[in-house]
Amino acid sequence: MIADLHLHSYHSDGVLAPAALMQLVAAQGVTLAALTDHDTVRGCPEAAQTCADLGIGFVPGVEVTAGWHGQELHVLGLGIDPTSDALHAHLSMVRQLRHARLIEIGHRLERKKQLVVGEAIEELCRTHDSPTRLHLARLLVSRGLAKDVAHAFDHWLGRGQAGYAPAEWPVLESAVKAIREAGGQPVLAHPHRYKISAGALRRLLAEFCSVGGLGMEVAVGGMSSNDFDRLTQLARANGLAASTGSDFHDPGIPWNPPGRFAKLPPDLEHVAARLQR
Ligand code: AMP
Ligand code: MN
Ligand code: MN
Ligand code: MN
Repeated sequence: MIADLHLHSYHSDGVLAPAALMQLVAAQGVTLAALTDHDTVRGCPEAAQTCADLGIGFVPGVEVTAGWHGQELHVLGLGIDPTSDALHAHLSMVRQLRHARLIEIGHRLERKKQLVVGEAIEELCRTHDSPTRLHLARLLVSRGLAKDVAHAFDHWLGRGQAGYAPAEWPVLESAVKAIREAGGQPVLAHPHRYKISAGALRRLLAEFCSVGGLGMEVAVGGMSSNDFDRLTQLARANGLAASTGSDFHDPGIPWNPPGRFAKLPPDLEHVAARLQR
């Protein structure tokens, strides 16, 4: 089994339609795939149909944005019911915050840097269910203001830059609750990427478990073997199931294809085993 349980379509900040995404994922040898767009489940029906046609397993999912002591976190909801009213209510609140934050970023860029981006951001909000800073980073690249999206984050959008606007995301506990109400498994996404101390990460995982978290990502596309070892130990120490996923967004970024990540050690329970029960 190759389970890629972290994938983005154009319903959030991926570039492929759900059907094209799942065709690529299957071609890469993945046998179980989850669509996990940021704060939207809109692509799930199309992805489910394509996976059924291709004969691979499908897990309906979502990547929910949450806050924890000023830190922005992502919680995957795997195996959710995409028609859950409780989940819909939670996600539409988060998407409203997304729209408001992007508009605030636009104001700051115009005020501090005289960049004229307000109209483009309004267009982004009109045309995207779940607009993200990555969309804005691509816009800055297309205008020649950054050489690539990483540079756009470093120079314009990241913490401390002119286009940084903080957001008050719903707290971790409410994200976990919305996922569980929809019948899903809450899985802490890419714990190695949060810019917090080792002690804070231990406290985060303890709190995540205490509010109903069930798993954490351990093998993520592009991570170092050091981080993989660290996350393996944290999953063991907290009794969390382990998840695997590429966090694929864009076939134009060839070093992070679907289905490529480290293999889990056999003593860790794979989240996929719980999903198929
Ligand atoms: P948002 O959720 O609106 O803050 O947008 C963040 C998204 O941008 C993430 O989900 C990543 O896909 C992408 N992203 C964040 N930081 C970077 C970075 N430094 N370089 C490239 N992409 C990034
Ligand atoms: Mn993203
Ligand atoms: Mn994420
Ligand atoms: Mn992601």
